[in-house]
Amino acid sequence: MTSYEKSPSGSYSKIPNKSLKIPLILLRVFIIHLDSILEAFENAKAGEPISYSLHLGGLLYLRIDKNIRCVDWRKHYIPKGLSHTLENLKPGMPGVGMKFIEFDAFISILEQLRELSHVDEILACSESEGHKSATTLENCKICNPMKLFS
Ligand SMILES: [Zn+2]
Repeated sequence: MTSYEKSPSGSYSKIPNKSLKIPLILLRVFIIHLDSILEAFENAKAGEPISYSLHLGGLLYLRIDKNIRCVDWRKHYIPKGLSHTLENLKPGMPGVGMKFIEFDAFISILEQLRELSHVDEILACSESEGHKSATTLENCKICNPMKLFS
């Protein structure tokens, strides 16, 4: 469903739906790091000066920051003209910033989501045999986002 909001000038504009497709292999990475994510989340909620960032894979990162008061799932990109290095990877438009209350709700359905999606039966890159060698790791487009630009 598309929602609209009225601007002060009286015109209506579309409210962007909060949505982001997350491949199960990247959701698996989220689950592997669930304990540290929840710890960062609880600290952020408590107002601790937390700045947590997790590379889920490809160009997708999860960030928890008490200053932005949300759990941010966001695709990154390299602005035109900049060299293809990790340092130049910037947060882009595609993404969802979940308010703390929304993330709480997400966590409360996570068990159900895990069961329904069978995500725990999937191997994340870090769990697969093939990723024991440094070369494989470096050439993987999920583990090494720079591979997506070469
Ligand atoms: Zn990989």
